[in-house]
Amino acid sequence: MLKPRVQIRPRRRPPLRFLPLGGCGEIGMNLSLYGHGEGPEAVWIAVDCGMMIRQDLPDSPLQVPNPSTLDALDIVPRALVITHGHEDHIGAAAWLWPKWGCPIHATPLAAGLLRAKFNERGLVTDAIRVIEPGEAMETGPFTLRFLPVTHSIPESCSLLIAVGEHRVLHTGDWKLDPDPLLGAPISPTTFRALAPVDLVVGDSTNAPLPGDSRSEGEVARALAHTIARCEGRVIVSCFASNLARILAIGRAAERCGRRVSLMGRSMERMVAIARGLGYLDDFPPLVPSSDLGYLPPEEVLVIATGSQGESRAALQRLARGRHRSLELGPGDSVIFSAKAIPGNELLIERLKKGLRHQGVEVLDEFNHPELHASGHPAQDELRTLYGWIRPRYLLPVHGEPRHQQAHRDIAEELGIQAPLR
Ligand SMILES: [Zn+2]
Ligand SMILES: [Zn+2]
Repeated sequence: MLKPRVQIRPRRRPPLRFLPLGGCGEIGMNLSLYGHGEGPEAVWIAVDCGMMIRQDLPDSPLQVPNPSTLDALDIVPRALVITHGHEDHIGAAAWLWPKWGCPIHATPLAAGLLRAKFNERGLVTDAIRVIEPGEAMETGPFTLRFLPVTHSIPESCSLLIAVGEHRVLHTGDWKLDPDPLLGAPISPTTFRALAPVDLVVGDSTNAPLPGDSRSEGEVARALAHTIARCEGRVIVSCFASNLARILAIGRAAERCGRRVSLMGRSMERMVAIARGLGYLDDFPPLVPSSDLGYLPPEEVLVIATGSQGESRAALQRLARGRHRSLELGPGDSVIFSAKAIPGNELLIERLKKGLRHQGVEVLDEFNHPELHASGHPAQDELRTLYGWIRPRYLLPVHGEPRHQQAHRDIAEELGIQAPLR
């Protein structure tokens, strides 16, 4: 007897879509959307919502992603998920989020920084939900695991995004730091347990660089050594969000009998929020900058913003000899414990020229590279992580085309497919 032939057609797996609205082909203003399902049933989440700061465009220094694609496609994310508290990942939320009104999930420090930004713009909301690094959450068909990574701000996380049968590792910004000073090093066991992932959406910033990024512990030792041999006043300029660096500078100052003062609104705000969360508990007591003029030069250490040549930063006023409470001169040193963000080079050069003109010694990434470490993975770190998670595909983001291409080359060398489209 002939059996009736029944053909069971497997149901088509709903596709996973990736829509980068910023941070792909450029560095800054990261905003990525992941969508699952089709038509009106599609569900979208947004990962990060950052701004780009362009000191070289004085008329529009702050840029945010253009959300018109979302309007055109009628997409409203059901959740905004934040990987970490850097401006290029949270800075546009206060502008774009009000249209969405969805819950925002962030680790405590990023949540604290977001709240401060929302308050500044008069936005009051209980949409900001705190999630601890290591925890997981669900939103619609998506499950998201916040996997702690090391970077240049505490509580940074990669996201394991699981939806339908797809598993994606969205790395966020990361590096492999064996001695991060604040927080723990990355756990290889956690990442090995994810292998193999279908796709890695990964940080390309330093993919053109061989070797690995320096650890914060190493920078701390170099700073301590350098500050100890300075004789006059010392100003160290770094990014306000690099709390490990700030801690290292504070400890180095204390060890050589210097009093610490902060300059810059973002520096003061960051340190206040970090202290509220229990970071920097053993930071030395601060001296108001108005008291600095009363201290002998060898007892002064200032941690200041302005390393990118920002026109309104205190460092700029110091370079022009126009600061209210402090005047620099021969014997004093300014340490740039930060790298130039592309586009800011000319302004930074002008700033350094001003400082040198005052007779100040300038120590920077060119004459003292050991005084800074990048927060992004160089080639050996990329190889190590991808060896752990064994991705099938790579989508290189967080970089300009040359960074993305270098990232793609490494992936191909490792047998990971990195198609252009
Ligand atoms: Zn970033
Ligand atoms: Zn970052």
